[in-house]
Amino acid sequence: MEFRKLRLSGFKSFVEPSELRIEPGLTGVVGPNGCGKSNLLEAIRWVMGENSPKSMRSGGMEDVIFAGTAGRPPRDFAEVVLHAADDDGDPLDVTRRIERGAGSAYRLNGDDVRAKDISLMFADAATGAHSPALVSQGKIAQVIAAKPTERRMMLEEAAGIAGLHVRRRDAESK
Ligand code: ATP
Ligand code: MG
Repeated sequence: MEFRKLRLSGFKSFVEPSELRIEPGLTGVVGPNGCGKSNLLEAIRWVMGENSPKSMRSGGMEDVIFAGTAGRPPRDFAEVVLHAADDDGDPLDVTRRIERGAGSAYRLNGDDVRAKDISLMFADAATGAHSPALVSQGKIAQVIAAKPTERRMMLEEAAGIAGLHVRRRDAESK
C-alpha cells in the first residue's frame, strides 16, 4: 500500500481544508513549535482507526474537532481523507468524519464501512494506527525503553500479522 495524499478539514489546528501530497520514500515534517506537525501525524493515525484519546493527545474523541480560537468559531465536524493505493496501484480512498454528538463514520472509496474493516485493511497492509512506519515525537526513546512484550507488538505490526491476532480474538469471543 502507498499513501499519496492527505486531506484535512476541521481537524485540530487544520481548520481550513488543507491538502498534502505524500511523496514516495521517507517523509519528514518540519516547522516551528506548535505549527501542527504532530497534529498531521495524528490525522494519519486517526483516519486509520485510532481511538485512543491518549495517542491523540485529547480527553475525548470529539477533541479532534477544531475547538475555535479568539477570532474563529469552533467547527462542528472534522474530516480526514487519506488517498492511498493498493499494491496494484488501484485507489483506496479512506474517509473518517466525526460530528459533535454523532460519533465518527468511515467510508472506503465512497462506500460506508465499519471501523473494523478499516483497521483490518491497514493491519493486513502492515501499516495502521500503531505502525512503526509512523515515527512520532518521543517514539525513539519509547522503543529503547520498551518491555520485551511491547517490542514484540511493534515487530508484529511491522510484519503485518497484527490483523491475525484481531481475527483470532474475534473468533474466540464467538
Ligand atoms: P512541537 O514542535 O512543539 O512538537 P507541533 O508542530 O507538533 O509542535 P502540534 O502539537 O501538532 O504542533 O500543534 C499544536 C497546536 O494545535 C496548538 O496550537 C493547539 O492549540 C492546536 N490544537 C490542537 N487541538 C486543537 C483543536 N481541537 N482545535 C484547535 N486547535 C487545536
Ligand atoms: Mg509535535
